[in-house]
Amino acid sequence: MELTLHDLNTSIVGRRIVHYRTLPSSMDAARKLASDGAPEGTVVLCDEQTEGRGRQGRKWFASPSSSILMSVVFRPTTRQLPQLNMLGSLSIVNTIEKVSGMRSSIKWPNDVLISGRKVAGILMESVLQGQALQAAILGVGLNISLDVSSYPEISSIATSLAAEAGRRFERSDVLRTLLQEMDALYLAIKRGEEVYSLWLRHVETVGQIVRITSGRSEEEGLAESVNPDGSLVLRRADGSRVTIATGE
Ligand code: ATP
Repeated sequence: MELTLHDLNTSIVGRRIVHYRTLPSSMDAARKLASDGAPEGTVVLCDEQTEGRGRQGRKWFASPSSSILMSVVFRPTTRQLPQLNMLGSLSIVNTIEKVSGMRSSIKWPNDVLISGRKVAGILMESVLQGQALQAAILGVGLNISLDVSSYPEISSIATSLAAEAGRRFERSDVLRTLLQEMDALYLAIKRGEEVYSLWLRHVETVGQIVRITSGRSEEEGLAESVNPDGSLVLRRADGSRVTIATGE
């Protein structure tokens, strides 16, 4: 069903919003639309996902209508991809600030945390045609009223906007703000402005000791810095350095 969001003031993001009650995954639906030629800025939104996923095939939990579950079709250049990934978490940090006044932070590469607990996750996937980048799909799961205590796997690490603020939020209000934040940042990227330094200000990981699992290997060390391409520079206990790409 096509959805019209009142007072949405954007030029690209959300110019078309397709709303479903239930989907296996908004990522897969957006990917299909993108392959079929959907315009840039098309948003696929759903109230419930039966096979919601995070990075590396991890699960994303959301009870019906408790969260913003959406995927947005972008058509960036390959060079813009790292910035688009940053746009994901930065637009959520800005949205949380605008709708609630609360501060949130970014755990590298792209989790959004309030008081150390995860309130949102971002997932970016490329759609390729042969070698060429046809589209990038940016997925967002943002917990609005999700009762995390009903999900043992995440109850100690996750939170919701409502739980942190101690009040209700209208999903459509949060959505409108989020689409507007994404739009503004995307226009900035298209103008050649960089969102890296804006994003980096909110990344709490730098300076922390972290353990990062990439594929079957695990790296532990001090997170020294994040490069403009989004990769993390880690200093191991033996003093050697390793650079870890966002996708890992
Ligand atoms: P991590 O959060 O461990 O760094 P990740 O960034 O790879 O992992 P995502 O792709 O963002 O993870 O999402 C999947 C993970 O997020 C799951 O493994 C689970 O730990 C957590 N998770 C799943 N659903 C939610 C939710 N609704 N709110 C917060 N965290 C969730």
